Order: sequence, then C-alpha cells, then structure tokens
Amino acid sequence: MSAPFPALRGETMRIFRAAPNVLVFFDGRVAGQPHAEVPTWLDYAYGLGTSSFAIVDGSDALVYDTHMSIAHATMVRRHLEGIGVTRMRVVMSHWHTDHVAGNAGFADCQIIAHALTARALEDNRASLEGGDPPIFPIVMPTRLYEDRLALTVGAIAVELRHVDCHSHDGTVLFMPETGLLLAGDTLEDTVTYVAEPERLAEHLGGLRLMASWPISTILLNHGDPQVMAEGGYPPSLIAATARYIERLRRCRNEPSLAALSLSAFVAEDLAAGTLHYCDAYEPVHRQNVALVTSTTA
Ligand SMILES: [Zn+2]
Repeated sequence: MSAPFPALRGETMRIFRAAPNVLVFFDGRVAGQPHAEVPTWLDYAYGLGTSSFAIVDGSDALVYDTHMSIAHATMVRRHLEGIGVTRMRVVMSHWHTDHVAGNAGFADCQIIAHALTARALEDNRASLEGGDPPIFPIVMPTRLYEDRLALTVGAIAVELRHVDCHSHDGTVLFMPETGLLLAGDTLEDTVTYVAEPERLAEHLGGLRLMASWPISTILLNHGDPQVMAEGGYPPSLIAATARYIERLRRCRNEPSLAALSLSAFVAEDLAAGTLHYCDAYEPVHRQNVALVTSTTA
C-alpha cells in the first residue's frame, strides 16, 4: 500500500463557513504534495481537494458526505459536537470511495442515500473493501429514498434530489429558501471527472435538470476552497460543465482537440472566471479524453 500524504489525520483540513448555516470541511490541494507514481483514489482525493459539508441549525446538523477517511469523519463530528450539535444525520452524495470512506465515523447516525447508492455499494463492496487504501467495512445507508426527499434541519428546509450526472446515483442537496445547492460530484472545478463514459448523454440530461432550478449559489465536493469561502459558485458552472462534456465528445473526431492540455481545452471558461485552474485536473482530463474517445455514447 502506498503511503498517503499527508498522513491520514486530516491535519491539513480547513473548516470554514460558506453560508450562514453551511460549514465546509475541506482537505487537499496541499502545496508540495508529491505526485504518486501510481496514484491511489486517496491521492486523487487529496490532489483535487475534497470537501464534506454540514447544514447546521442550533443543535441539529445534516452532514453531506463523510469525507475521505474515518479520521476526517471524526474531525467533522468533533467540530460539530464542539459547536453544540447533538443530532446528526448523514446524506450520501453517491457511492464513490472519497465520499463514503468516513461512513464508519457516523455508524450510529441515520445515513440517508438514494436506493441506487445502496445498490452500487453492494455491487462494488469487494472492490471498495479490498481497495488501496481499503474502505473496510463499508457502512451502508440506513434510510433510502428515490427521486426526492424533503427534510428539515432545525428550521431549515432541505431537499434531497436525485441527479444522474457524473454517477448514476447522484444526490444533491437543495435549500429552497436560499437557492443554495450542494452539488456533490455532479459539478467540479476545474472539470467533471468522467466516471461513466458510456452515459454522457444521461449526464447532460442531469445538467439540464439542474439548470432548470432556481439556484443562487453552488458548493462542490471538489472545488476551489477560496471560491467556496467567498460564498460559492454561480449557476453558470452548470453550463460550463455541459460545454466541457460536449467538447469531450467532439474529441472522438477531432484529434487536435483531444491533444490539448486542460488549460487550453477550457481556456475560454478559465479566462471568463467560470472555471478555476487546478493542475491536479490535468491527469483527470487526460483520463477523461482517453475514456470518452474509446466509447461511442
Ligand atoms: Zn469525488
């Protein structure tokens, strides 16, 4: 097993407020991080920067994703307990490693997920529990929903909404009173991580669905911490993500486009400030191009 950097203690975690009732627990994008020769999922998670969130009102909290290790989950939990939270529930954004590895830290809480997330965890249990590093044991959700689920956190209304983008089982959190969206991995900055290259048409449909909602601001599980500390992303990130996916599909017939670096590939959106450059996304982009040009969807 390769040694993760920094050690799995979350000592580089940054905790900040993105909105009056929304806390961000960000770790990664650490200066001086060595590039692993064969990166594990955890190296990717640190490189891209990974966040969990908590919607907090008084003593009630809704945690959105349990972070990339049990140590991180424990830090999230301790922080919430330290500010007086006595009731915690968890919502899972989707089934991927860097979002579920901390579930064991919340094993005594209600863990809410889409039914497709529970199924994907079961279907991928062996690879998750036997991975590098392993997520063992996988802690399963205890409450399932389909399509939408309305909750209140203290006095705050929160809606879980199923969005098929990045992963077929995506759950985003929408706060109808403020228009704030916690987007999970349906959107990322600098660009989306293509995990289901044969399903890009469905993912574009998921983006169209989100674009129809009255969103004011967006927070990302893999986003720029400075942008989030300043309140988050504008809804224009949704169209920028769709543009990126459409361009990826064009790479099948345009080798010169496929050969571009990420910074050149999304140069217009970088210049416009819609996207922000993070060099850890260069290998993600190369992998995206390779995956998309080898499928026909
Ligand atoms: Zn992720």
